[in-house]
Order: sequence, then structure tokens, then C-alpha cells
Amino acid sequence: MNGGRTAVELARSSLSGVVRHLRKEKEREEIDRIVCGYCQYEGIPFLRWQTFRNGKRHLRAECPECGRYIRWQRQTPANLAEVYRQQEEGRRSES
Ligand SMILES: [Zn+2]
Repeated sequence: MNGGRTAVELARSSLSGVVRHLRKEKEREEIDRIVCGYCQYEGIPFLRWQTFRNGKRHLRAECPECGRYIRWQRQTPANLAEVYRQQEEGRRSES
């Protein structure tokens, strides 16, 4: 009896771990990934803001490995959250 209950609890707790993991994966997938044509890097780009002469801000995606410009990134919530996260990270490492 006791052993059975423990097994159920174990299964339940590992399932919630899997769900948490999947949710994390989904969030990560929403960030637009790049493939670098120079160094073959694949994954999340280095993002930074660039302001055009007309005042519009664009998200510039660069290869985190070789630093080359890849493309302009769509301003989706996930991409915006990622550029914010990277800026926060940069600020922390500077100080
Ligand atoms: Zn590269």
C-alpha cells in the first residue's frame, strides 16, 4: 500500500518536471534562431537595438561566435524578451 502510493507520487512529480521542461523548450523555440553562413553557428543570435535615420528601432541579429551581421530580427515578444535579457546580462558582466 505504502509503496504503491510512493510510486504514484514519484510519477506525478516527474511528470510535472517534464511539463516544466517542455514549457521552457517552447519559450526557447519562440526566439528566432539563426544559421551563420560564415562559421555555421546555429542557435539564438546576439541581439541589439539599432536606430535608423528615420527614428525607427530595429533588432539587429548578429552571430555570437564571429560577430557578423546576420539579419534584422522580427520584434516578437520572445525576441524582445531575449534582447532585454542579453542587455541585462551585459550590464552585469561590465560591472
Ligand atoms: Zn558566425
